[in-house]
Amino acid sequence: MRDDNCIFCKIANGEIPSATLYEDEDFRVILDLGPAAKGHALILPKEHYPNLYELPDELAKKDIVLAKKMITKMTRVLGCDGYNVVQNNGASAGQTVFHFHMHLIPRYENDDAGFGWNIGELSDADKEDILTKIKEIN
Ligand code: 5GP
Ligand code: ZN
Repeated sequence: MRDDNCIFCKIANGEIPSATLYEDEDFRVILDLGPAAKGHALILPKEHYPNLYELPDELAKKDIVLAKKMITKMTRVLGCDGYNVVQNNGASAGQTVFHFHMHLIPRYENDDAGFGWNIGELSDADKEDILTKIKEIN
């Protein structure tokens, strides 16, 4: 399944050229055009799925195994000190291209890639609410 209006469908399937680090029958791994740090890459499935909610389990399994392989190799290529593996779902979560993709972002000591969030505190009310509701959902 492809979406004719989707830029990542075109890139993943080679219709638009990209800096490709790896390719197999299911995925293409490319360098991000707007890198958060040197070596920032994206894993793109060749089929169109808008987000992780929609991604079939088999591809999800392959995707994380591929992420592991890629960051292992790229750590040797780049000499980076760590990796953020990031995946955004929905505009509110920062997703801008609605074709599932996983970000592989190399980190260097003292870099200014700037990932993080404001640390809150788990309230008893939130904890009870969530623990009650999760049990009601299969
Ligand atoms: P999102 O915000 O959806 O999680 O991530 C989209 C990512 O795709 C961004 O990091 C952005 O820089 C990257 N990107 C958007 N368009 C292109 C493109 O045409 N080519 C490449 N290589 N990266 C792109
Ligand atoms: Zn697509």
